[in-house]
Amino acid sequence: MPHSICENIKQIELEIGNTQLVVVSKYRSIAELEKVYECGHRHFGENRVQELVEKQGILPKDINWHAIGHLQSNKVKYIAPFVCLIHSIDSIKLLKVVDKEAKKNNRIIPFLFQLHIAAEETKFGLSSDELANILSSSELKELTNVQCKGVMGMATNTLDRKQVETEFKHLSKIYLKYKEENDWDTLSMGMSGDYTIATNHGSTMIRIGSKIFN
Ligand SMILES: *Cc1c(COP(=O)(O)O)cnc(C)c1O
Repeated sequence: MPHSICENIKQIELEIGNTQLVVVSKYRSIAELEKVYECGHRHFGENRVQELVEKQGILPKDINWHAIGHLQSNKVKYIAPFVCLIHSIDSIKLLKVVDKEAKKNNRIIPFLFQLHIAAEETKFGLSSDELANILSSSELKELTNVQCKGVMGMATNTLDRKQVETEFKHLSKIYLKYKEENDWDTLSMGMSGDYTIATNHGSTMIRIGSKIFN
């Protein structure tokens, strides 16, 4: 028998303890998102800016909206007024645009650097060397209206659990390396197929879609 959206959320929250659950609501209808809201959940994640903005306009204002997908510079202005966390910063150029738009909105926008940890070529993100360069750059220090909270990464889409584990360990190591000196508190890793491995390796935030809605 299929479980309800609410039962799925409660089950996952039981499993993950203190880890923050972001319900990934991409492609899901307003009615489905309302069920998530009625269940008491307030952290939603979307990939596409247009969908994020449309849904934010319709649903209650106390939802925390996470931008989790690849972000184009020219779209930042649409989410800058309300986004609670951008998970997908993969260049200083993009971050400068976020800083500029945050200023216009008189806000400080929290963000994560997205790391490329998967074997697939198609996934976006920085290498650990590129991250090190950005973190030590004077350009970063000049930005006043953005605040880095940590890193995000997506593992290879594979049934090989050992490989996923290796990739998550790698990301966790990068997170821990910079956490103290930068006052980070967010390691965003884990999706429907691999969140148990992710939480076993120190994830503080998981992004789950299909396991909740299917
Ligand atoms: C779609 C998506 C998720 C959720 O994936 P599921 O496998 O449906 O849980 C998480 N993170 C990102 C960046 C996504 O695009």
